[in-house]
Amino acid sequence: MNNLVILGSIGLDDIETPFGTAKGALGGSGIYAACAASFFAKPDLISIVGKDMPKEHIGLLKQRGIDLTGVSICEKTFRWSGFYEYDMNEAKTKKTELNSLLEFKAEVPEVYRSPEFLFLANIDPEHQLSVLRKMKTKPFVIVDTMNFWIASKKDKLLEVIKKADLVVINEGEARQLFGTPNLIKAGKILLDLGPEYAVIKKGEHGALLFSSENYFSAPGYPLEEVKDPTGAGDSFAGALAGYLAKTKDTSERNVRKAVVYGSAVASCCAEAFSLDYLKDTKYKNIKERYGVFKKIRKF
Ligand code: AMP
Repeated sequence: MNNLVILGSIGLDDIETPFGTAKGALGGSGIYAACAASFFAKPDLISIVGKDMPKEHIGLLKQRGIDLTGVSICEKTFRWSGFYEYDMNEAKTKKTELNSLLEFKAEVPEVYRSPEFLFLANIDPEHQLSVLRKMKTKPFVIVDTMNFWIASKKDKLLEVIKKADLVVINEGEARQLFGTPNLIKAGKILLDLGPEYAVIKKGEHGALLFSSENYFSAPGYPLEEVKDPTGAGDSFAGALAGYLAKTKDTSERNVRKAVVYGSAVASCCAEAFSLDYLKDTKYKNIKERYGVFKKIRKF
């Protein structure tokens, strides 16, 4: 059906949080995004992975119905190491080893070139632009990024944002990108660049959705134990993209629902390291959390 194509990184992560550590854990924006989207759709993944990636990780992706035709193979997988202090909303990067991402050509298989929805997850904006250029038809384009690319390739990133229909970015990165402490201003600047919607993620405190007419604020899921928020942002955006691809409805009302589904899936991601909790989460659990959101939003 090819109605959702995702571009993102595949990585091996070393993570430290106040609640434990993980070494060589499955990670990367493309992995979290595709797994989260797979609750709603069958995503096609464009990425690159090294031969050093344990086989069982690849098995997990296949089990979830993720198409890997667009994943090329090289020697060494991208690696990221980071840590969190008690403020689990901010990841601090210790080291980024681009490895595979340096030789990535962002090749797009012929069957991936006319999706209805394209999610350009956090990766080098030059790869995001390259994939966009290869599309034969105009998909609904969702874009995410992170501080690393804002610092190193801001101009290219702004080019990508101008071509997006919906931009997802976290609060710290929105402030960094536009040099303002005010998220309402940052949301408006994002919309002025062209996208129909802008979503600013606020970690455990939820997300803000901006459109030209309206403003919507979704709370975070009331989790008492956050073990590792790595990938929660990618999972949020992946689930949002998956829900839109499933429903094929980009009205504001439906984008609001997609934001809430995004928050529900992201909360499952944060319950354990890597994909340890998310991989065993059932669609029914996501629906239950969606129900909790409905309840806590009533006043
Ligand atoms: P987040 O959802 O923001 O917590 O994303 C965490 C994931 O982003 C980790 O699994 C990393 O492997 C991945 N990552 C970290 N830095 C980069 C980067 N510069 N480009 C692409 N992916 C990255």
